[in-house]
Amino acid sequence: MKTTMIQRSKEIYQITIPTPFLVGPVNTYLIKGDALTLVDTGPKTAEAREQMENSLAELNLSFKDIELVVLTHHHPDHVGLIGEFLPNAKIAGHLKLKPWLEKDEQFYSRTRQFFYRFYREHGVPESWVREMDRSQNYYMDFTSPASVDFILEEGDLIDGLPGWRVLETPGHAQSHLSLIREKDGTMVAGDHLIEHISSNAIIEAPYFNETERPKTLLQYREALKKCINASLIFSGHGSMIRKPKELIEERIHAMDKKAQVFKRKMGEDPIQVFSLCQKMYPEIYRKQTALTFSETLGHLDLLEERGEVKAERSEGEIYYMKA
Ligand SMILES: [Zn+2]
Repeated sequence: MKTTMIQRSKEIYQITIPTPFLVGPVNTYLIKGDALTLVDTGPKTAEAREQMENSLAELNLSFKDIELVVLTHHHPDHVGLIGEFLPNAKIAGHLKLKPWLEKDEQFYSRTRQFFYRFYREHGVPESWVREMDRSQNYYMDFTSPASVDFILEEGDLIDGLPGWRVLETPGHAQSHLSLIREKDGTMVAGDHLIEHISSNAIIEAPYFNETERPKTLLQYREALKKCINASLIFSGHGSMIRKPKELIEERIHAMDKKAQVFKRKMGEDPIQVFSLCQKMYPEIYRKQTALTFSETLGHLDLLEERGEVKAERSEGEIYYMKA
């Protein structure tokens, strides 16, 4: 089997794992700190398991040698294989990773209820909402349940990984965090920044006691700015990023431009998010409904924050119009 383990520095090894998803392979990182640490795991598939096993074997390691697994966010391509590392490894991640990883039924059902109402308010036909629910369930099947041993938050140092600090980087996922090695600005950033594709700021339901949905694109922009001084970023997919500042500025600029394209596409009459999504992404929206919907609403949030568009509710449905 072709090697997918690359030593990136004295203590960092990149292990690339296949996924059955459109995004392609996922990068996980083995860090030889005081604790033998793995950042992200790959999905729960036989191919991913085999690849991980072989890559670890190249370093004379096996699943049970991993002492700590830090999970950047709850998406199945990053956390699915966690079961293989238990019970030996401890798991560290954001508080918002917890209900996903634990497969908290109450949380899942609240989230589904939120999305049902939310999509309907934004003009998504019922059959499409059901289809999105089905693909979300399909996606979550690539994970096994586990509990989080250590909750990480902004500024935390990690026991077992001296010199690395936690940055909360919400936007792509509410549970998203990144790690930065303070002495040289090296980051392991999951899906927060990817060189060859722009990360989607996926819409999520409120968590715990929250009452409003998070405005994920706005969060994402702020969290990108936090990483502007990183010297090198190891990413969850694709190549490492050698010029983070340039890429971050490019991404922020691209969002500003895209927001204006959405504004032009809106036309002069009130329009619902789903209709605008269909106008902006003819055809793609059919296969990638949730992602294109998130892109559309995210940019509307940005325009609304700038006072360029406003939202109005009429008979339980939400319409956007130029302000
Ligand atoms: Zn992701």
